[in-house]
Amino acid sequence: MAELQQLAKAGEPQEICGILFGDDGRVSTYRPAPNVAADPLRHFEIDPGILIAAERDQRGGGNSIVGYYHSHPGSTVQPSATDAASAAADGRVWLIVNGTDAAAWQAIENGDIYGRFNAITLDCSGAKGQTAAE
Ligand SMILES: [Zn+2]
Repeated sequence: MAELQQLAKAGEPQEICGILFGDDGRVSTYRPAPNVAADPLRHFEIDPGILIAAERDQRGGGNSIVGYYHSHPGSTVQPSATDAASAAADGRVWLIVNGTDAAAWQAIENGDIYGRFNAITLDCSGAKGQTAAE
């Protein structure tokens, strides 16, 4: 988590983003990805090449994708309407950081927030010092 917050700060004023890997909602590692959004100051889009490679790795028995992270520079860690519109209801975790705060959300059908996200608990007490979400 500390590393992701540092990346978020270093990336300001642009949003940073990447992919979270692990098992059963526990994040063991992450992969930063270029933000290829047309307006990276206000939106994010994970480089599709990185995303496709990660999905391919997973199918080949590599790291499972738990979800995604991105930053909201100078804003809250609540998902935006744009986040909801671009999130598939695939049950994956959306971790949002802003350099100091963090929150995790699960992308589902009929979620509490914009009909797409439910809040989930973040537990950063993992033995490896990495982020875990329920
Ligand atoms: Zn966002």
